[in-house]
Amino acid sequence: VILGILQYPDPRLKRVARRVDVVSDDIKKIVDDMFETYYAQENCAALAATQLDLEDPPAITVIDVSANKNEPLCLINPEIIESRDETNEPEGCMSVAVVDAYEKVKRAKTITVRALDREGHMQEFEATGFLAKCIQHEMDHLVGKIFLDHLPSMKRERYANRIKKQLRLIKKEQ
Ligand SMILES: [Zn+2]
Repeated sequence: VILGILQYPDPRLKRVARRVDVVSDDIKKIVDDMFETYYAQENCAALAATQLDLEDPPAITVIDVSANKNEPLCLINPEIIESRDETNEPEGCMSVAVVDAYEKVKRAKTITVRALDREGHMQEFEATGFLAKCIQHEMDHLVGKIFLDHLPSMKRERYANRIKKQLRLIKKEQ
């Protein structure tokens, strides 16, 4: 099932994901739907459950940074247990898709991540560069934050207004 991707400023983007206690069949189904949604997009780096049209979204993010898009990485209840160095690279977001929004966001350059995988196994690994940036961006989503929240409020409001205008135009054309 391909899920809808919520668009800013949809208030549901502020939801905090619920922690997954057991990787049940229902959770696996959500993971599979998330990957189906993910691979149906062009230029999508990662998705978080909280940015999708799901009820009571669990703490899950799906990512694939491989060139051939054949290395799915599923993180359930992701935690950053260590981070070091800083980068300031431009980011975009699938929930801010109606306008071209790319803004620099300060992130840790290298992180050590702990999360469950789709089978419920604990995984711990180090990520750096683009993957580290994606994971931090998605973990923001899981606590109801989007990258625009890192910008000065004037800049964020400007985006919000541009987006609302654009969404109105799209609605009119339909
Ligand atoms: Zn995003």
